[in-house]
Amino acid sequence: MNIFERIESDVRSYCRTFPVTFQRAKGATLEDEEGNRYIDFLSGAGVLNYGHNDPALKRPLLEYIGSDGLTHSLDMHSGAKARFLDAFETHILQPRGMRYKIQFPGPTGTNAVEAAMKLARNVTGRHNIVSFTNGFHGMTRGSLAATGNGHHRSAAGIPLAGTTFMPYDGYMGEDADTTEYLDKVLSDGSSGIDKPAAVIVETVQGEGGVNPASFEWLRSLEKVCRKHDVLVIVDDIQVGCGRTGTFFSFERARISPDIVLLSKSLSGYGLPFAVVLMKPELDIWEPGEHNGTFRGHNPAFVTATAAIETYWADDSFSREVANKGEYLRGWLNSLSARHSEMGVSTRGRGMIQALVFNDGDDADAVAARAFERGVIVETCGSDGEVLKFLAPLNIAKEELA
Ligand code: PLP
Repeated sequence: MNIFERIESDVRSYCRTFPVTFQRAKGATLEDEEGNRYIDFLSGAGVLNYGHNDPALKRPLLEYIGSDGLTHSLDMHSGAKARFLDAFETHILQPRGMRYKIQFPGPTGTNAVEAAMKLARNVTGRHNIVSFTNGFHGMTRGSLAATGNGHHRSAAGIPLAGTTFMPYDGYMGEDADTTEYLDKVLSDGSSGIDKPAAVIVETVQGEGGVNPASFEWLRSLEKVCRKHDVLVIVDDIQVGCGRTGTFFSFERARISPDIVLLSKSLSGYGLPFAVVLMKPELDIWEPGEHNGTFRGHNPAFVTATAAIETYWADDSFSREVANKGEYLRGWLNSLSARHSEMGVSTRGRGMIQALVFNDGDDADAVAARAFERGVIVETCGSDGEVLKFLAPLNIAKEELA
């Protein structure tokens, strides 16, 4: 029995699908201890949009550490944080005409979700949050209450409260506009749905099965929320930071969320980091009212700054991602057409693309075969029936091919 099986908790999961020990990684390639190489189409579940050990991020990180820059600073001012805020304002917010204040919660996605839900509740004085079928927002109690997956929910050990689930785009079939249902229940004082503080939504559901909401649906959702004075929280933790082709996944939908959550690929290097962006008038926090020891993770500030300056100072990277996304989608389309007898379909947006199988066994079998052939790709969706392609965005075209 190896060391992992002997003393690491049975809760471990990815290592069961990819049962090797990884030693090194560069770009889109992982190498195990025996020197076998794998192309990484998992990218840390969306953490490694710029691949492993990107030199454009590694260089400033090594320089920063070498110069004894602060590693940890709670929420005190640090030069690294100032440079991050400056880069974020200059290259992300200003060119998009966005006005948000930035909160640093703890460093993981669920920390940002918890902070956002708490803020929305405090701003509106309402407790309920509307979440969507197949939504995924994290494993701590508040985020889990907004997460649809029964396997995860059943591990909570107590009733999960404070949320109401509504059907996501497409859930009731292609022709149904599920925002009409939301509008209806919010308009009806006897619908049994407590008026929510906010809706929390992913523009493309990542863990829930690569379900892209249409831009029309997102616009309509925003309209319903404005009509009923409900805040819009976009959880861009998995599909933000360029995954769909634009820095924020909602840009092409032309909506203006009240609160936006980023984590995963924000540091760009795999270092834990999360932010809550809120419209300035929502920033009603009292000093220290919400905190977290690891809010000041300076190495993440350094690599996030480098990622923004390297990839987001103009729109060339965005075009490159859109281009690769189309290529990947075309390739998956022709693959599924060649195997039409299996009833495989494709869906996705930009560089989050998927092959959808009839059941989890087929998707598992393909993932296992891919791994044997040196490709790491994971399954998602309610029955694990979706094979999700999350290649690094800066993967070379030949490697993607
Ligand atoms: N929100 C979304 C959309 C996610 O995909 C995830 C993780 O997969 C989370 C929140 C939770 O992030 P974390 O695992 O860092 O807490």
